Amino acid sequence: LADARVERGPIARDVSAASASLDRLMLARELHKAIGGDQLFLQYQPKVHLRRQEIVSVEALVRWRHPQRGLVLPSDFIPIAEESRDIVALTLWTIEQVIGDQRILAAHGHELPIFINIAGVLLADARFVRQACEMITSSGARLGFEITETSVIRDPESAIRNLQIFADIGIVIAIDDYGAGLSSLAYLKQLPASELKIDKLFVTQLTSSNRDPLIVRSTIDLAHALEMEVVAEGVETPSAMALLSVMGCDMIQGFLVSRPIGIDALLPFLAEERHLAIARDVRSPLTR
Ligand code: C2E
Ligand code: MG
Ligand code: MG
Ligand code: MG
Repeated sequence: LADARVERGPIARDVSAASASLDRLMLARELHKAIGGDQLFLQYQPKVHLRRQEIVSVEALVRWRHPQRGLVLPSDFIPIAEESRDIVALTLWTIEQVIGDQRILAAHGHELPIFINIAGVLLADARFVRQACEMITSSGARLGFEITETSVIRDPESAIRNLQIFADIGIVIAIDDYGAGLSSLAYLKQLPASELKIDKLFVTQLTSSNRDPLIVRSTIDLAHALEMEVVAEGVETPSAMALLSVMGCDMIQGFLVSRPIGIDALLPFLAEERHLAIARDVRSPLTR
């Protein structure tokens, strides 16, 4: 396809680049209007603690039901929102929704921290930090923030300072996608994080790869040495879960337990605790 484009010459190339950026611009404008409306919604994906055999928290993931384009995934609009600064409004909206959904869960007897993904640009935004802290402390919500190391590297000084502010009001800090971006042990050492999430890049092929188990095992040991709990994301098979359990991984998240689901589906899921049967099945032969 790329070759065909080159053969069509520089003008065709410019036209297709221009239409791509026009499309991006339109998406940005549509997203701006969508924030606060009913096109955006959240899904939740549970994290299961392997030794405790229970769901200990859930992660909120935003989706966009676009009237013409259909379902748009966050990888296609979060970068646009970061560029346009709409990420501030989008994230404040997410926090508000999560606070409401946490109350609904609690009303059904499910007291769980909810984790929210926080884009890097927000860690340098003092106004966002103030607004988020105000919403969270006044509601008494129990939240976690997932941040990537790559997002800290941009402006480490203010990122670390603001993460400390969040940690001080009781927000659990998790390092997301560990190992997939620009990892720096210098920052890992300074971040007030208590959870480390190993990127699914190292987890989805865990039992068929030679190197992934070695990387995962040493990451678990490193995190434990730094007194962090480890979450493996992208756990899709019982054999991956079994191996992670042997390696001492604390929590798992992935399609094996549940895909991200809406609050309406999450409620019966939490009530059923079907996940516990999954964890027990695989764990029992190992702990015998
Ligand atoms: P993430 O936080 O690392 O989320 C994990 C992604 O992996 C999610 O994709 C999830 O649906 C997917 N996933 C979960 N389990 C499995 C599995 O077993 N196998 C595979 N192959 N994939 C799995 P999703 O929902 O498309 O989100 C992509 C990224 O978008 C997230 O990565 C997060 O960085 C970002 N994102 C999502 N919601 C928000 C948000 O509200 N704010 C911000 N700033 N970013 C968000
Ligand atoms: Mg995440
Ligand atoms: Mg992740
Ligand atoms: Mg990821």
